[in-house]
Amino acid sequence: MFNAILLNKNDDGTTDARLTQLDDAQLPDGEVTVRVDYSTINFKDGLAITGKSPVVRKWPMVPGIDGAGEVIASSHPEWKAGDRFILNGWGVGEVHMGCLAQRARLKGDWLIPLPDGMPARSAMAIGTAGYTAMLCAMALEEQGATRDGAEILVTGASGGVGSIATAILSAWGCRVVASTGKLAEADYLKALGAAEVIDRAELAAPGKPMQKERWAGVVDSVGSHTLANALAQTRYGGVVAACGLAQGMDLPTSVAPFILRGVRLIGVDSVMAPKARRLAAWQRLAHDLDPAKLERITQEIALGEVVAKAPLILEGKVRGRLVVNVNA
Ligand code: NDP
Repeated sequence: MFNAILLNKNDDGTTDARLTQLDDAQLPDGEVTVRVDYSTINFKDGLAITGKSPVVRKWPMVPGIDGAGEVIASSHPEWKAGDRFILNGWGVGEVHMGCLAQRARLKGDWLIPLPDGMPARSAMAIGTAGYTAMLCAMALEEQGATRDGAEILVTGASGGVGSIATAILSAWGCRVVASTGKLAEADYLKALGAAEVIDRAELAAPGKPMQKERWAGVVDSVGSHTLANALAQTRYGGVVAACGLAQGMDLPTSVAPFILRGVRLIGVDSVMAPKARRLAAWQRLAHDLDPAKLERITQEIALGEVVAKAPLILEGKVRGRLVVNVNA
């Protein structure tokens, strides 16, 4: 038997989430059985556990889109007992039982090796949020937007994606401007490398489609009017990497920034990203993310605290990253 968070659908459509015990026979099909050491709560896990959005499409479900730990048994040619792994996405925690549990059974093709020297706890402090922040930063870099001193806007800056994007891009020599609803966290954001902190209210309301040019690049985890205003303020030829919807799914803008300023909008998806892209992002994370900054971002909680903490991430009340010690 092992401990797991289990989600069931109630008759009224709401989600029942509780800490329980499962046995291996309840795990889904997959070539690799793993011992999870650490997992995490991402925004999507918050949606799954609270039932606020139809993230879970198979019941009952163990949530947890991220996990890191050790392989116990494998029939997959690339994996053997004792190997250290990271799992991000691929529908795990949505349609395939996830990693907010002490054990999981997964497809070998979904796993990537834990980078040398990276503890499982650090990998989960990074999690899908941090790996997505790196995908966004790489997108800006590939489009030529991260030259030394380039002014980059990071929205949702005190959240998981935003905190790690701030740390990465400042380490790359960019001048990061962090947009946040938590101005009391200005010192936290500056310690991560933000050169300037602005009130997200400046970006959250409806604005004109073309505004004064400022940003060479943008990492946006917020969507809606915030993304529209970021596009409107992006400099000629600048680049916006869009990955999130914390404010909303909508994008109330016009074609003006694209056709008059050549602004490039790059969509970033972590869930189905190909393996080569994941490996590249995790190698960069292993080298470019200062462990001291990562620790500043991280709060550790026990598996038994997950259900109570999940709503807080949807309310924007979590600073940085929640890493879950599933064995505590
Ligand atoms: P967090 O909850 O950690 O961070 C989101 C941040 O957005 C909050 O901390 C807050 O930051 C800001 N925010 C929250 N609500 C609002 C609002 N109503 N208006 C404006 N800003 C708001 O989540 P994550 O960082 O884990 O994820 C961020 C987004 O990215 C989510 O929408 C998530 O679904 C998405 N995502 C997408 C991925 C992909 O593959 N495309 C992968 C990972 C995440 P502050 O207080 O500093 O303003």
